[in-house]
Amino acid sequence: MNPKERLLAWFHRNKRDLPFRKKKAAYEIWISEIMLQQTRVAAMLPLYSKFLAKFPDIETLAKAQEEEVLSAWQGLGYYSRARNIRKAAIYLTSNFNGRFPKDLTEALKIPGIGPYTARAVLSIAYDFRVAVLDGNVKRVLSRFFQYEENILGSKADRDLQALADGFLNLESPGDHNQAVMELGAMICLPENPKCLTCPLIGDCKTQVTGKTDSIPRRIKDKKQIHLFGNILWIACGDEVLLIRELRPRFLKGMYVLPIFFVTEDRDDVYAPSEDLELLNLSFDFRTLPMKFKHTITHHKFEFQIKRSEVIKDVLKSKMNQFGPDLLWKWVKIEELTSQFPSSIARKVKMEIEKQN
Ligand code: SF4
Repeated sequence: MNPKERLLAWFHRNKRDLPFRKKKAAYEIWISEIMLQQTRVAAMLPLYSKFLAKFPDIETLAKAQEEEVLSAWQGLGYYSRARNIRKAAIYLTSNFNGRFPKDLTEALKIPGIGPYTARAVLSIAYDFRVAVLDGNVKRVLSRFFQYEENILGSKADRDLQALADGFLNLESPGDHNQAVMELGAMICLPENPKCLTCPLIGDCKTQVTGKTDSIPRRIKDKKQIHLFGNILWIACGDEVLLIRELRPRFLKGMYVLPIFFVTEDRDDVYAPSEDLELLNLSFDFRTLPMKFKHTITHHKFEFQIKRSEVIKDVLKSKMNQFGPDLLWKWVKIEELTSQFPSSIARKVKMEIEKQN
């Protein structure tokens, strides 16, 4: 058997029993692929089942309110993915009768669908002869072909996509793509790859030359950014204030607890808007002793909570000073995590409850 055949045979013997592998359904595969970007399989599975139970098909998803979809996405983070999934469902309902198109160019026009997802759905659901490229595939192929350049960046994407296309098993493209990804997830691990149990052993150049520790090469040009911020807890009885800014730096399009970054420079891209500064000055706050950490992509945050309890009339008059760039609403504290579906809300609520 050649390496591709051995890889496929290994996959058929060892593949994990995952719900979205049970039938070749484009919708289920699409949702699973989006959820698995940035989320591990074990963490994603219960959320995937709940999401599919609530939105069993594209039409149901297209009819849902954005808040419902964001709430069902809670626990997965990166909420722009959830918003795009809903937009894509609306697009597919209007343009393709609620079906995923069987065409790569058309698939790439769907909101939130990039080359990886389009190729994954088309190959797995419809056996299209297109190779996928994700983090696992890049690692496996860069080692198999001993690709010694930096694997981050567009040049590497082009080079590795060409290698993936050439390596594709044309008889079973969907299973082949899943096999390479599965190999990356289970055997060709970032640290200490299990070469002795790998179906590609003997043909893998990096394993033969003993360079598995240094390939793939990842040279990052983006530095980690550390930010300190205050989260404003402005409550009145059993309700708390959420705001939505026109141009927020993070958590776009959501109603959130007001987050006020501490910066030295008014022109800093993370500097609070004038509305936020005004909000911060409008109430008397007590700073809670606890701090907590949160990460969004390469941003590492440290947050402190500032708490203010106010009387409804005072609150109303103060909030009426804000213009159209800052929307606001009151939500029941018990509904905070569904109205602001982010782990930030959960962490803040927990801290507040400890104080009560
Ligand atoms: S032989 Fe080792 S390095 Fe090569 S693909 Fe298999 S696990 Fe990865």
